[in-house]
Amino acid sequence: MLGAKLAIDRAVLQEIFDALASRGYRVIGPTVRDGAIVYDSVTTLDDLPVGYTDRQDAGRYRIEQRADTALFGYAVGSHSWKRFLHPPVERLWRVRREGGGFSIVENEEVTEPLAFIGARACELRAIAIQDQVFLAGQYVGKSYKIRRDHAFIVAVNCGQAGGTCFCVSMDTGPKVEAGFDLALTELIEEGRHLFVMELGSAAGVDLVKDLPHRPATEEEIAAAERVVDQTRGQMGRTLETNGLKELLQANANHPRWDEVAGRCLTCGNCTNVCPTCFCTTIDDTTDISGTIAERVRRWDSCFTLDFSYVHGGSVRNTPRSRYRQWMTHKLAHWIDQFGSSGCVGCGRCITWCPVGIDITEEAAAIRASPGPARELSRRDPDAGA
Ligand code: SF4
Ligand code: SF4
Repeated sequence: MLGAKLAIDRAVLQEIFDALASRGYRVIGPTVRDGAIVYDSVTTLDDLPVGYTDRQDAGRYRIEQRADTALFGYAVGSHSWKRFLHPPVERLWRVRREGGGFSIVENEEVTEPLAFIGARACELRAIAIQDQVFLAGQYVGKSYKIRRDHAFIVAVNCGQAGGTCFCVSMDTGPKVEAGFDLALTELIEEGRHLFVMELGSAAGVDLVKDLPHRPATEEEIAAAERVVDQTRGQMGRTLETNGLKELLQANANHPRWDEVAGRCLTCGNCTNVCPTCFCTTIDDTTDISGTIAERVRRWDSCFTLDFSYVHGGSVRNTPRSRYRQWMTHKLAHWIDQFGSSGCVGCGRCITWCPVGIDITEEAAAIRASPGPARELSRRDPDAGA
C-alpha cells in the first residue's frame, strides 16, 4: 500500500483532519489572517484559504480571490514550519532559589504531536536541512527531536508557482519526493474537485485505511502530473547554481557587496522568514523577587551587530559584511558545513525584504562580472566576516 496513489473527495480531507485530531495531533495548516496566508491551528476546511491565491514579487505580497474554491491555490507565505519545529522563543531551563542554594526546574516535556497540512516540496527539503543541523551532529536538539519524531506531514504538490519561487533551480520542487506521510495533488477541472493522494509512510497508510478512498485512475494520476509540470514551467525566478559556491567564495571583495549594502536595512526579515536559517541567541532573566531565573533561547539574525559581538566589538560591523555573510553562508559555506545548499528556493527572503533585495539577482550580478579570484584578506576591513 506504501507508495499507492488514491483518489479522495474534497470532503474526505475533513475526515483526515478529524482522524488526526482524534489521535491527539494539533492540526496546523494554512489560514488567512491579516491579509496573508499563515500557518496556525485549523479544525475545518473552512479554516483553510478557500478560493485564495497569492501574488508575490520582490518586496511585495498580496492575497487575492481565485475564480474557484481551491484549498491550496497559493504558493507560500511568510510562515514556515520552522516556527513549530524550532520555535522563535523557547525556554531551555529554569532555576528556583531555595534557602542558600537553588534547584533546577525541569521543562515540561513536549507532548503534543503536530500535524502539518499543506507542506510544500521546498518546505520538506527545508525541514530535512534543519534535521541535518539539529539531529545529525554530536549535539542533538532534544525538543526539536521530540517534535520532529512525532510530526505527521500532509504535503501538497504545488499547483502554481509564486512570483519569487525558484525551487526548480535548487532541485527542491515543485513535486514532493520524500519526507511526507501523505502527499496530495489538488485537481480542479471539468466540474470535479478531488485530490490524488500518495501514501508515503506506514503512519499515513494507517490513518487513511478506514477513510473513504479508491485507487486513482490512470487519467487522474496523469492529470496530477500535469499540475506539477505546469507549475514547474511557472517559476518566478531562476538561480544558476553551477559553480556558484566557488564563485561566491572567490569574490569576497566584489563591488556588488557595497552596492547591495547601500540598499540593505539589516532588518533581518530575510533570516526570520527563511525556512532553513537556524541561528539563535540566549537570554537569561530573573523574576522581580529574585526567586526564579530562566534561560530562554530565541531566534537571532546574522544581520544584527550583536550576533557577531566578541570582546571589544562586532566582527561584522558593516551592512556589507553582514549581507555577504548571510548570502555566502546560504549558497556557499553551507555546502562545506552541511553538504547541501542552505537555500531551497522558496523565495520568501525576496518577497519579504522591505526593499526588495533579491538573492537571485545578487548572485547573477556577481556572476556577470566576477572579480579576480581573491579570498578575503586580513587587511580587509571586514576581514573577520
Ligand atoms: S536583505 Fe532585505 S530583508 Fe534582509 S536584512 Fe537586508 S533589507 Fe532586511
Ligand atoms: S535563502 Fe531565501 S529563497 Fe532560499 S530558502 Fe531562505 S528564504 Fe527561501
